[in-house]
Amino acid sequence: MGTARELLRPRRAAAALLAGLAAACGPAEPPPLNLVLISLDTCRASALSCYGGPPGLTPSVTRLAAESVVFETCLAHSSGTAPSHMSLFTGQYVHRHGLRTNHRAVRPRETLAGVLAGQGWDTAAFTGHGSLRAELGHAHGFETFESWVGEPRLPYTRNFDEVLPRALDWLDDRAAEPFFLLVHGYDPHCPYEPPPAQRARLAGDYDGDLEVEGLCGMQDFGPLLESGQVGPEERAHLRDLYRAEIAAADAALGRFLDGLRERGLLERSIVVFTSDHGEVLGDHGWVGHTTMWEEELRVPLLIRLPAGRGARVAGVVQHVDVLPTLLAALGVPAPEGIQGVDLMPVLNGERDLPTGRLHVAQFGNLESVRVGPRWKAAFRRTPAGLRDARLFDLATDPSELRDLSDDPDHAPRLRALVDRYASFRKATRAEDRRYGGERLGSVDRADAELLDALGYAGGDD
Ligand SMILES: [Zn+2]
Repeated sequence: MGTARELLRPRRAAAALLAGLAAACGPAEPPPLNLVLISLDTCRASALSCYGGPPGLTPSVTRLAAESVVFETCLAHSSGTAPSHMSLFTGQYVHRHGLRTNHRAVRPRETLAGVLAGQGWDTAAFTGHGSLRAELGHAHGFETFESWVGEPRLPYTRNFDEVLPRALDWLDDRAAEPFFLLVHGYDPHCPYEPPPAQRARLAGDYDGDLEVEGLCGMQDFGPLLESGQVGPEERAHLRDLYRAEIAAADAALGRFLDGLRERGLLERSIVVFTSDHGEVLGDHGWVGHTTMWEEELRVPLLIRLPAGRGARVAGVVQHVDVLPTLLAALGVPAPEGIQGVDLMPVLNGERDLPTGRLHVAQFGNLESVRVGPRWKAAFRRTPAGLRDARLFDLATDPSELRDLSDDPDHAPRLRALVDRYASFRKATRAEDRRYGGERLGSVDRADAELLDALGYAGGDD
């Protein structure tokens, strides 16, 4: 990493010299903008006040949203931390970048950080560790990549209040702009253990006997619901604990954004807020993520440009759109082999969102596919073919309570969706090979222990 930094310093010095010469000879080009990408792990869009969540729960995000373009429906490409972030970093679907689970590493062909580092941006990442780590391939292109400091301790995750101050320290220590700073924290990921202040305010009135905090790692909630051990009170408490974690993250985020503002960086930076996936809180007999429900795939996406003008964009956008959009906003050409679209013309009001696009998501052998906002298929890919296929009409059934796959009126629709996806995969296979990541195999036993501690024990590959 040190070598890359040394190589880039002269490039930045040369750029500064050229900028100085240009200023002496004529109108100066505006200096390149910084980029701050904020990922709050496990944050379902509907948890946030600006996405219809409880009013007043997330005032920092609300304030940021008032100065940002808010994309009302943004879909992630995985319900697992490692693959989803890799799609965000590469602009590629999971089957192309190849990081399908949280415990098999890849070497991506190109990333947002790699492109920007190559153009002279100083690149740094401060992550919450867990499944966002250098060992899995996420550090590609970052000159500085910190996911842990000191002695490891289970569950090997860090929250915003630990990560964000370190990112501000890095900003104070670093020498030059432009920079790309990625920050990530695990606050609302299970176990749901909010700080005392938020717990007392938002989750303090449960007096049942069940230790609800530990349930999220269990994931399959069905037997507890059937036995009556988990009733409406326990589910409400689970939801309140999750909300308290969200509120704690929001408070830390507010301090971080104030820090950017105080340093004068907010007006020289593009600030993006998103999440890798959401969370199911007891619906569908499930607590956690790693499946394909809408609660997991719908994530927030806020993009604040330096002018800080607020707007909302309806329609469906995808995480693969983030890389081409940000590079366009920074005036940097996008690499080949990305699968998203540049949303800047939409942000600028020059054209509407493209409609009828394919969206795919994957974690291990679970996949989902949709075309446009309405019809969604989910299935399990096995060597013997697709299994457990389900079909949902999100227009009339946004909570996915009615599987229509056995309905004779809708069976052709399910087949059409699956066929379109198969045709797409076939048509783009050569590009997958040319631009996809290099698969490096499993991570070691210590990492498996880590993943067990996060509730990913088995079954995700
Ligand atoms: Zn995650």
